[in-house]
Amino acid sequence: MREDNSYEVIRDVFTEYLIKKQHRKTPERYAILEHIYLHEGHFDAELLYNAMQKDYRVSLATIYNTLELLLDCSLIVKHPFVGQTAQFEKTFGNSIHHHLVCSKCGAVKEFSDKKIRTTIQAKNFASFEITHYSLYLYGLCNKCKNERKKS
Ligand SMILES: [Zn+2]
Ligand SMILES: [Zn+2]
Repeated sequence: MREDNSYEVIRDVFTEYLIKKQHRKTPERYAILEHIYLHEGHFDAELLYNAMQKDYRVSLATIYNTLELLLDCSLIVKHPFVGQTAQFEKTFGNSIHHHLVCSKCGAVKEFSDKKIRTTIQAKNFASFEITHYSLYLYGLCNKCKNERKKS
């Protein structure tokens, strides 16, 4: 797994990718990457767009386009959450965590577990290098569970 999570390293990964794929190295793309890196948690394109308006004006189209690039070079992941707009999260500089997903309302809670972590880190796959991972546990949140009881 990637050990050095400093922003310079992340930036280099992106730069290398952009050069290799012959995409332009625009300041907007780096501003988006930096914003994602500096913030914790899940986000969708709109949330990122609104949050960025204060310090850097980028269009929603540029955000969508850059998210695709960041997905392609594995600097972010798209979560398979239900009933929501596409939710993204950075894959670096993040403590490893898993997700409890309510299959009714889509509420997401994070948790981490040392045992799971140790087990996965002890795994060695021939010809496969793990860069990041997450587990998704699906079920009902308390709110939805109580609502079901009532009806
Ligand atoms: Zn729920
Ligand atoms: Zn998460």
